[in-house]
Amino acid sequence: PSRVPAGARKPRPVTGGGGHVARKRFGQNFLQDQGIIDGIVRAIDPQPDERLIEIGPGLAALTQPLVERAGRMTVIELDRDLAARLRQHPQLDVIESDVLKVDFTALAVERDWPKLRVVGNLPYNISTPILFHLLDHVDVVQDQHFMLQKEVIDRMVATPAQGDYSRLSVMLQWRYAMEQVLFVPPESFDPPPKVNSAVVRMVPLAEPPELDMPLFGSLVQSAFSQRRKLLRHTLGHWLEDKGFGGEFDLQRRAEEVPVAEYVALAQHVSLKA
Ligand code: SAM
Repeated sequence: PSRVPAGARKPRPVTGGGGHVARKRFGQNFLQDQGIIDGIVRAIDPQPDERLIEIGPGLAALTQPLVERAGRMTVIELDRDLAARLRQHPQLDVIESDVLKVDFTALAVERDWPKLRVVGNLPYNISTPILFHLLDHVDVVQDQHFMLQKEVIDRMVATPAQGDYSRLSVMLQWRYAMEQVLFVPPESFDPPPKVNSAVVRMVPLAEPPELDMPLFGSLVQSAFSQRRKLLRHTLGHWLEDKGFGGEFDLQRRAEEVPVAEYVALAQHVSLKA
């Protein structure tokens, strides 16, 4: 006999509107708060003929007001059913793909586009890989506006004095100016995520330092592998291997060293290499 008492209600299906059932594995939380949608569109302030690319348009909650202003838009959606719906929209170019496989540089070059404005309410399960993927294509980016977990944005913008300062802070701050532009509570979405969200604006620096990216990446990764240990332990061997003598104060923890010093150290090491 069933343990469900007679008359008990079935759990409500998690719908994202329009009959679509939200897919958890694709990180689908659909925006439903018009005030928040308006706030994001105001923050982006799209102009006619700008090259907007949206990651994960879903049910087009953001896409529609954006494309009304921009005229045309390219959207990247992995969910096959959603991509099929989006293709019905006359102003959208739909790329049905995993965003991590999209070569933004090739896209911009092929289409002879000036710089891209990249936007999206990102699937939170792959938000950090998406940020790193775009870093590889930052030369064709004008700016990025992303909805992310608030906690991720706190790490992105943190400075050494703050507990959230981490590898993500250093890896992004050397290349972007970033600011949180909007706080977004869980109930703004259907279904609501378990965490608070926020929107971040990321603008590539006009004159970034010259950096050997793979070297910088592995330096920062080594430093933060044990963030509370002294750099003497985490970076000492790594620097010795690179022929670095000791002009850098290693009696500090990774979380105490400003971004500019990581940049200077990486430049110094690559000059010696
Ligand atoms: N933009 C919509 C909104 O604000 O209501 C949906 C946002 S939802 C948080 C994330 C969207 O990204 C979903 O539409 C999902 O199908 C899509 N998505 C998930 N993984 C993806 C991937 N790897 N590449 C492209 N899109 C993806």
